[in-house]
Amino acid sequence: MAVSAKDTLTERQPIDALIVGAGFAGMYMLHKLRGLGFNAKVVEAGSGVGGTWYWNRYPGARVDIQSLEYSFGFDEELEQEWRWSERYAPQPELLRYAEHVAERFDLKRDIQFNTKVTAAHWDEAGQVWNVQTDAGDPVRCRHLILATGCLSIPTDVTFPDLDTYKGDIYRTSRWPHEGVDFSGMRVGIIGTGSSAIQSIPIIAQQADHLTIFQRTPNYSMPAHNGPIPQADFEAWAKDPRAYRAASKDTVGGFQNEASEALATETAPEEIKAELERRWAWGGFRILGAFADTSIDPEANRIVQDFIAGKIREQVSDPAVADLLTPKDHPFGTKRPCVDTGYYATFNRPNVELVNLRAEPLVGFTPEGIETSAKTYAFDAVVLATGFDAMTGAIDRIDLRGVGGRRIKDHWAEGPRTYLGVMVAGFPNLFTITGPGSPSVLTNMINSIEQHVEWIADCLVALKQRQQTSIEASEEAEAAWCRHVAEAVTPSLLPQANSWYMGANVPGKPRMFMPYAGGLNTYTEICNQVAAKDYEGFIIRQGDRMLSESRTFTSHPPMGEIPEKLMPIIVERLTAAGLMPSPE
Ligand code: NAP
Repeated sequence: MAVSAKDTLTERQPIDALIVGAGFAGMYMLHKLRGLGFNAKVVEAGSGVGGTWYWNRYPGARVDIQSLEYSFGFDEELEQEWRWSERYAPQPELLRYAEHVAERFDLKRDIQFNTKVTAAHWDEAGQVWNVQTDAGDPVRCRHLILATGCLSIPTDVTFPDLDTYKGDIYRTSRWPHEGVDFSGMRVGIIGTGSSAIQSIPIIAQQADHLTIFQRTPNYSMPAHNGPIPQADFEAWAKDPRAYRAASKDTVGGFQNEASEALATETAPEEIKAELERRWAWGGFRILGAFADTSIDPEANRIVQDFIAGKIREQVSDPAVADLLTPKDHPFGTKRPCVDTGYYATFNRPNVELVNLRAEPLVGFTPEGIETSAKTYAFDAVVLATGFDAMTGAIDRIDLRGVGGRRIKDHWAEGPRTYLGVMVAGFPNLFTITGPGSPSVLTNMINSIEQHVEWIADCLVALKQRQQTSIEASEEAEAAWCRHVAEAVTPSLLPQANSWYMGANVPGKPRMFMPYAGGLNTYTEICNQVAAKDYEGFIIRQGDRMLSESRTFTSHPPMGEIPEKLMPIIVERLTAAGLMPSPE
């Protein structure tokens, strides 16, 4: 008789690792641990693998990092046998890829679908996690690995009288599997983030009329999607290992031709030529044009003005173009969007932009949406209103560590982690791409591979020495949080009301959550920590403490900083109390 993941999850003996989530992170973690001889299982809330690509099925959904780089590199045969059809793969193809990976490595036999983890309590005496799911029997595991995704839980945003609305309501993040046909309909969409920016052009082609409710415009760059250019493919095919290594050895985990030139020291015609070249290339390449745009407001303004010009070129009504131009945050301080035909969509006669800053949204009526100016009638409304990012999936679990301490209390003033991987007082709990790691500032799949491999190495090291638990020390966690602040404070990133800052969720502590020091630097730090016998971690065997390293000293040396930027950096670090004031 076949044994299912469900049967084995209820065994009396604790399993080695329970992984929560069967997205790319959970799938690779399972494969990696199984290969190392661990008894690992996965629970997944959805009915299939794929995580982000399982849930976000809205029209136009596609990856914003080139597919050649947004795919697994851990297995050469997998890499060789899969061919992406486009530069930026669409969601159905990404889901097929996830399914292919699951089939190829026979992952599903260890995944229990349609199951949510509701609680996980650390049992100090037994040195195990007692995990409760909504599927019934509790699970005991030595290690609990949260592969729950950074953008997996939609915000609880609601609107007055939403329940009175008689039309259909769709959320981009929970799109019906059978799809939606908007033909002949009057459709409204709330939000203008990446999800909206990708779906608007497609919905506009289908719907009779589309009304877009915008509160804050975002920067969006053209994907110039299509078949993978031959030169790019050849650069990859020549040596996929070297290509992958080059992607990982970058700040963002993808190749971006990052320049060291300063915009403020470059002649205007050279700036224009460089920005045009990168705009024509498409996607995030423009982010790497100049080294000072992420720090110096004057340099950032140059790119802002360039993009404003691009919006004016694409949108025929100057008033609409102006409304679509971001003015409240520097370029790059929110994750920029990558679109296909977004701005041109506003030239269509069936598309209308409503500026919620001028006519605030009052609520819903049975017919549609009411603003302070008028009521708009719709057959369907799409909510593209975003996610409770980075912490949402974790703090919805009743997660309790040593002494019953709740993660929600530990994170009351913002998420605290060591290396974005472990939390003080929560032994044997790992987060993949958790807060305090580069995660959402990078090509996620490269971040995922780094995390999975580091966690797997850590579990192997523990097992070899028969150690039963590992836990971040309070001191190392505090030092890491300080380093996360040091990494972001010199930049303009904290200046936007972004979901990176928790600013899109009322009551969420304002704190820049991801690590802005770069994936390459971060990887080096994690490797150093491991090489120093897991510096900053407390390691136990049963109730015996085996090693107690309380410090974290693996800061990378500061890279070379252009002299011109030093005063800004010093000023910001000093103002944040991260550097003593110069006498
Ligand atoms: P988002 O960027 O947070 O955008 C949410 C939008 O909803 C914003 O325009 C926001 O306006 C609006 N909104 C929220 N509450 C509102 C309210 N009460 N009234 C009016 N408007 C409201 O969310 P997202 O578009 O889902 O994207 C989130 C992240 O997911 C992206 O930044 C990206 O990292 C990732 N993503 C990636 C892709 C991809 O290309 N692969 C696609 C989709 C998403 P305000 O800005 O004024 O709050």
